[in-house]
Amino acid sequence: MQLYNSLSHKKEEFIPRETGKVSMYTCGPTVYHYAHIGNLRSYIMEDILEKYLRFTGLDVKRVMNITDVGHLTSDGDTGDDKMLKGAKREHKTVMEIAKFYTDAFFADCAKLNIKTPDAVVPATTCIDEFIRVISVLMEKGYAYEAGGNIYFDTSKLEKYYVFNDFNEEDLAVGVRDGVEEDGNKRNKADFVLWFTKSKFDDQELKWESPWGIGYPGWHIECSCISMQQLGEYLDIHCGGIDNAFPHHTNEIAQSEAYLGHEWCNYWFHVLHLNTNSGKMSKSSGEFLTVSLLEEKGYDPLVYRFFCLQSHYRKSLVFTWDNLDNAKVTFEKLIAKIAPLTADRSGDIDKAEYDRLMQSFNDALGNDINTAMGITVLYDVLKSGSGNATKLALIAEFDKVLGLDLIKKAEEKAASAGNDTSDLPAEVLELAEQRKAARKDKNFALADELRDKIAALGYEIKETRQGTEINKL
Ligand SMILES: [Zn+2]
Repeated sequence: MQLYNSLSHKKEEFIPRETGKVSMYTCGPTVYHYAHIGNLRSYIMEDILEKYLRFTGLDVKRVMNITDVGHLTSDGDTGDDKMLKGAKREHKTVMEIAKFYTDAFFADCAKLNIKTPDAVVPATTCIDEFIRVISVLMEKGYAYEAGGNIYFDTSKLEKYYVFNDFNEEDLAVGVRDGVEEDGNKRNKADFVLWFTKSKFDDQELKWESPWGIGYPGWHIECSCISMQQLGEYLDIHCGGIDNAFPHHTNEIAQSEAYLGHEWCNYWFHVLHLNTNSGKMSKSSGEFLTVSLLEEKGYDPLVYRFFCLQSHYRKSLVFTWDNLDNAKVTFEKLIAKIAPLTADRSGDIDKAEYDRLMQSFNDALGNDINTAMGITVLYDVLKSGSGNATKLALIAEFDKVLGLDLIKKAEEKAASAGNDTSDLPAEVLELAEQRKAARKDKNFALADELRDKIAALGYEIKETRQGTEINKL
């Protein structure tokens, strides 16, 4: 398959180091707040990449860290500790906050059909490993102590800015956007590996180290967790484009300095989700979460579908209108699949199956072109083959797309039940409430609503075809 590699700035044939196996690392969330849907766009697209690699028969091991210490509000090592900020905001301990938002993150992922990585590792469980790797960097002369902190010395590298062709002056790292400059740094691009002095006063989490009691910098955790779980070589490292610099740049610096050889072959970066007023963030504008989408009546998979409609290397603009359009398109798609589920008899048309499967592979194999993959889904629906062939293809495609297409189509077919178009609005409203109550397993309420419907002169019952409502 062809995959764009941020490191080479071009599409390349993806060749794993070890035949048939892929090691894949993803930067996980900083668990001080809910993830916004912009962050989740990255995780959706990374999930598609993982699923497609598996789809082609590769054995993938994917690892994700959970940042529960060390990430400051500025990625340039300044500002407050994000975890501490979250804990203060909610009058809880850092670990309580970490647990709560880790669970919330995976609950959101589950709703979006994002597979949980094979290994999920909180940074606070690997402190000894961070200290060990930092010690090696010190021994090798890549790190220095200044003002009580340990810094990585970027001047020791032949090339530091690996993802872009900017030079140091252009970027003026750490001083962009007016963040405070750290006078301890020998070079502007240097970054903290271990904190002792700065921000130390109210730091809740701290550990003994050869350099004094303190806590790790943010960047070191991903290098260490990746190397610990996946070894000295990594096939694919993923993350949002925000992370390319400085986070991923620093990961490469410290990993390769530690290992003494190249570390990761392919870098997969997902572009931003923007709003009309600019890049989405937790601090500006409406805080868009999966829960908010649900409160507004959207199925989270509509958001997944919305993301799949465009390419991961393009910025995507989120507006409620755009989401509404995706919702309508998604519902129409399900409505087209629904009738196929009624009659699955017949043989698979092998030639047609192979042709359409090839088209799907051409789409996804071309740098994860999900929009094209969805177009192929429509080609399946338009093809002259029988239901069995169509459903088999849709089920296979959905192993990658993760849209619950067949399940939703079956539900749609079942809920079609009998014709309800001439029933009074009041009855339909009560029937909807009853459906929700049954879904929540609140059967007492469901029975109450059935009685209310009966009082209006209608009988509601479940049949194999779905819910039926008839005049009494
Ligand atoms: Zn990372």
